[in-house]
Amino acid sequence: GDLNVKVPVDSKDEYGKVAQTFNDMTFRLREAEEARRRLVADVAHELRTPLSVMQLKLENYQQAGHHAPPEMLLRLHDEVIRLSQLVDDLHVLSLAEAGRLSLDRKPLDLTVHLEQIVDDVKYEAEENGLDIRLFTISRPVTVMADARRLTQLFFNLLTNAIRYTPRGGKITVEIEEQVVDRNAYFACVSVIDTGIGIPAEELPHLFDRFYRVDEARSRYTGGTGLGLSIAHHFVKAHGGFIRVASQPDKGTKFTVFLPITKSF
Ligand code: ADP
Repeated sequence: GDLNVKVPVDSKDEYGKVAQTFNDMTFRLREAEEARRRLVADVAHELRTPLSVMQLKLENYQQAGHHAPPEMLLRLHDEVIRLSQLVDDLHVLSLAEAGRLSLDRKPLDLTVHLEQIVDDVKYEAEENGLDIRLFTISRPVTVMADARRLTQLFFNLLTNAIRYTPRGGKITVEIEEQVVDRNAYFACVSVIDTGIGIPAEELPHLFDRFYRVDEARSRYTGGTGLGLSIAHHFVKAHGGFIRVASQPDKGTKFTVFLPITKSF
């Protein structure tokens, strides 16, 4: 439809109010329309390049009358897996952006949950010459959360910490409880690394989809530029928020705040 209709508002009576409401709605619709258009364009762009590369490689081998060597098939397979991951990430992101992300919330002890995740990434961290540790408080830190979503969220933060921290660095996971305002209790999980950091001017865009601080630097690390966007939406869906502090060449600290209903 034509979203450029605008009803002139020149009176303060009922008609004026209706016209104002109509104009506000039209504006929001146009924004939603624009967001959807951008998402489709982003997706097309992200899928186009790797698909063209794969197509070209396969055609080259066909034309030369060669059989593809096994290592080339392995690389193509990796690329297909990365694309599948990208499609899954996009699916979850589009649900979240439409406010239709479903959560299966159950009581969950963050300490137990994060011990498992840290255990799962320990091998990769050590392979990359990184020391990874978890610090927590002595009582359980229980939140009402979707375990699968939280796993993906913390996994994204931890793989980033591993990716963007040079050998010999340290990754620390800290769990604590905080009172924000007088009556709002939050469980906080911080993922702290001693890596390359993020320049201050990049921080406001960090949670935008497909945003990467340095395309050249990030490209070969194998991410999709969606990890932090997804993390942000997952935390928001749980009624929480996420903070980042960073210093170039010193390191980065992401803190996830999740609401706790009972007081402590
Ligand atoms: P990607 O798949 O590229 O890692 P993300 O959405 O997870 O996408 O992150 C967006 C960008 O933020 C990354 O490309 C990287 O430039 C930057 N970034 C994320 N985490 C860190 C970190 N721990 N240290 C330094 N830079 C980071």
